[in-house]
Amino acid sequence: MNKLLIVGTVAFDAIETPFGKTDKILGGAATYIGLSASFFNLQSAIVSVVGDDFPQEHLDLLTSKNIDISGIEIVKGGKTFFWSGLYHNDLNSRDTLVTELNVLADFQPKVPQNFKDADIVMLGNLHPLVQSSVLDQMEKKPKLVVLDTMNFWMDCALPELLEVIKRVDVITINDEEARQLSGEYSLVKAANKIQELGPKYVVIKKGEHGALLFHNREVFFAPALPLEDVFDPTGAGDTFAGGFSGFIAQSENISFGNMKNAIIYGSNLASFCVEKFGTERMQTLSKAEVAIRLQQFKSLTQFDIEI
Ligand code: AMP
Repeated sequence: MNKLLIVGTVAFDAIETPFGKTDKILGGAATYIGLSASFFNLQSAIVSVVGDDFPQEHLDLLTSKNIDISGIEIVKGGKTFFWSGLYHNDLNSRDTLVTELNVLADFQPKVPQNFKDADIVMLGNLHPLVQSSVLDQMEKKPKLVVLDTMNFWMDCALPELLEVIKRVDVITINDEEARQLSGEYSLVKAANKIQELGPKYVVIKKGEHGALLFHNREVFFAPALPLEDVFDPTGAGDTFAGGFSGFIAQSENISFGNMKNAIIYGSNLASFCVEKFGTERMQTLSKAEVAIRLQQFKSLTQFDIEI
């Protein structure tokens, strides 16, 4: 069974959308990635850090999804990473209200010994030096390294981010961030420039407008499922990344053709994530529901024009 190593924040989030408001709830990039990847047949582990204010029940939830949490350090007397966001009416734009790094500020990641030979490494959103340190600890070259990041790290750690980007095969990034990283407005030009920075595959996420996968001069588009209700887009990008990397790990195939399927899986899982606040929907989601929606994705884009 393939091994997927996940790095990223395990966090408290406070979210406000036009549909309501939550106090500190379970969040974090690695949490969403782990929950999403748990729908695949693989062995996964999270490397992260929390304070001792982090409830045991959240850790138990990850364990119940068969995620190895031995790489999640618990800092005595420390406070867990905290993020707070406010969404506007269209839900496509959000303001970050608070980012408190807390225990993340001096985090030295430790990859569990039995994951130093992981096949797929999913570097979720977190300080680029932590992402690099995880790659340094690998004892076998992973088949695929996927990196997700955000504007926060472009603003405060760009040189370190560019260093780690050089070492990855796939980058997943949203449209605004792709523009910021490349300095290009056109997403095609942005993807070409980002490929020159290192990653051979560039996935640009466009929220409710789907996702694009670029490789050399080829491009593939996966739509987002038009949904009746979207309550909270938090974690959609990470859930997408978990679906993408989880599917690749399960299928043991890193070809461009298979990556097309992986971005459909990522979009599929992300479409569930946004239906409720925080991780709520991902906690109750069943494999049967995922399979039904996959069929909807297929029907959404199938047509019969003869060329
Ligand atoms: P997404 O909506 O996919 O961009 O991810 C939202 C998640 O990312 C939240 O659960 C946050 O805890 C986490 N997050 C927010 N800001 C950061 C940051 N600067 N670094 C790492 N994780 C973050």
